[in-house]
Amino acid sequence: MESTGVFNGRTALVTGGGRGIGRAVCIRLAKEGADVIINYAGRDDAARETAALCEAYGVKTKLIRADVSDRAACEAMFQEAKEWNGRIDILVNNAGITKDQILLRMKEEDFARVIEVNLMGSFHCMQLAGKIMLKQKFGRIINMSSVVGLRGNPGQMNYAASKAGVIGMTKTMAKEMAAKNITVNAIAPGFIETDILNDMTDKAKEEMTKPIPAKRLGQPEEVAEAIAFFANPENAYITGQVLCVDGGMAV
Ligand code: NAP
Repeated sequence: MESTGVFNGRTALVTGGGRGIGRAVCIRLAKEGADVIINYAGRDDAARETAALCEAYGVKTKLIRADVSDRAACEAMFQEAKEWNGRIDILVNNAGITKDQILLRMKEEDFARVIEVNLMGSFHCMQLAGKIMLKQKFGRIINMSSVVGLRGNPGQMNYAASKAGVIGMTKTMAKEMAAKNITVNAIAPGFIETDILNDMTDKAKEEMTKPIPAKRLGQPEEVAEAIAFFANPENAYITGQVLCVDGGMAV
């Protein structure tokens, strides 16, 4: 398959690109010509599979295993990424975890770990990509928040705090970089069918679906579509926005 499209000649780095929403994002960007750097935490098999699916569109891929909560690992990743294609046009801060528990039972280390990965991980990558994007006078950063970051959710105080924080960081960087042709936006997905929901029973998923006006869970490809919109070089005047992809849940 020959890739043609708006991302021809562009390089994207997608954190947590090996599985779930991240994989769908890598494929969506590759489909329209982006070379893709796929970051992941440990699942080499999944990341290799994502790479093969992207390469089917005739683009180049690079796998980088790195824990986004580790500053030194992020610095090494961005160094390697920059040396690979000489630029990073699109950063998708997608890597994220949950460690759910009701507040009164939540362990301090579980609160901290979710903040380290979801919030600090995004901070490290935004800062390191920002330096590269400033020099190339172009950049598109898309951060993964969540409807939970907007509305809260019982059992997810750590996750809600991290995703609300991502929105604050998105708006701040958007203002700092707006004059430099770098846009920074966030996506707030509702409930999307990926491994992150694996711990839930079918009954729990059914209950979760009831208050969603669309009456179904979302698909990773539906989130990827919104990310491709923000990543489009022609969308240069949209920044600091939070777009819900949630079947009407947060309305
Ligand atoms: P997923 O299926 O669990 O995939 C998570 C991905 O993140 C995997 O590729 C994983 O790598 C990677 N990852 C985890 N910890 C990492 C770390 N410390 N450093 C680098 N990579 C790491 O998750 P998902 O459902 O696609 O979610 C993707 C993002 O969307 C997350 O930020 C999540 O909070 C957000 N989100 C999801 C939903 C939903 O309903 N699914 C809703 C709202 C927001 P390995 O493959 O190597 O393990």
